[in-house]
Amino acid sequence: MTTAAIIVAAGRGQRAGGGVPKQWRALAARRVADWTIDRFEGLVDHLVLVLAEEDTAAWEEFSATGLILAPGGTDRAGSVRNGLQALRAHSVEKVLIHDVARPCVSAQVIGDVLAALDTHTAAAPGLAVTDALWTGDGSVVTGTQDRSGLYAAQTPQGFHYGAITAAHASHPGGAADDVEVARAAGIDVAIIPGDADNLKITRPEDFERAERIMGKDMDVRLGNGYDVHRFGDGDHVILCGVKVPHTRGLQGHSDADVGMHAVTDAIYGALAQGDIGQHFPPSDPQWKGAASEIFLRHAVELAGQLGYAISNVDCTLVCEFPKIGPHADAMRAEMARIMGLRTDQVSVKATTSERLGFTGRSEGIASIATACLVKS
Ligand code: MG
Repeated sequence: MTTAAIIVAAGRGQRAGGGVPKQWRALAARRVADWTIDRFEGLVDHLVLVLAEEDTAAWEEFSATGLILAPGGTDRAGSVRNGLQALRAHSVEKVLIHDVARPCVSAQVIGDVLAALDTHTAAAPGLAVTDALWTGDGSVVTGTQDRSGLYAAQTPQGFHYGAITAAHASHPGGAADDVEVARAAGIDVAIIPGDADNLKITRPEDFERAERIMGKDMDVRLGNGYDVHRFGDGDHVILCGVKVPHTRGLQGHSDADVGMHAVTDAIYGALAQGDIGQHFPPSDPQWKGAASEIFLRHAVELAGQLGYAISNVDCTLVCEFPKIGPHADAMRAEMARIMGLRTDQVSVKATTSERLGFTGRSEGIASIATACLVKS
């Protein structure tokens, strides 16, 4: 049976804070939407991402992936209809409809909903309400409510494609979710067990809770890198991708970017994948004078291939001269650009060694770096 999931990510919800729609806010080193999309990868045949027209950067980014993109509607139901429409040529039999703001949904819940669709036209996860329920006027309790038979609704909500498409086409609008749309069309919806960890990010504190839930099975890796290059003739040095005028140059087989080499080795280290010398042997003439960007890009690509996202890197340059401070922000921006990170994930700082040792005698520059990678 051909299966699909529609992830509705066109909302403008900013109750969660941060000044941008919650699906684009960072959650444990990635964006909420990235986590949510990942949850469905490999579990369904087609994945539709419904995006607001104005999220142009997201359109550009995700059009390069295998996802099917659909434009948001004027309300949530309109977005779902556009998502269903985007699947019309794919002979889909089972479709799951999921809120992008539920990034902690488990493979178990997704699998359970799909399995329930073998025997039901519609199925959705629900959690039986166990807390006592009150009514209140905002400050005092005005009554109690019988909780028996009450469920908290979750997503993904699953349907036979033809049935939910027809139900949406005939619904007058204003439904809270797709289960309500299905029921209005006379479709029985089976309840399958929900998961307390499948929370919907709504308020600022929900980010912290979602990170705690993800942390239960999060694979975090640290790596360090250390590099030294000696001074020689020249009128500039390249440090963390930035050309800095100086009375001397740095010697090396490549462009001798000691900072970028340390960061690159920190990433290789976190992956337990050797070091720059192993991937780009100095004995190979093709790397002579090479821009170190090539090495850093390779390490970042390798991290991606092995399933890791870079959470942050921190690089310290050790030298008396040139002065790093005036160039540090440009260095951060350049390395962030190469690594595809935000500048707040990249730190570049410097220290002298109090005129002690080889760096103190200005015989060369040393650099140490740390990288933190998170399994995505
Ligand atoms: Mg080096």
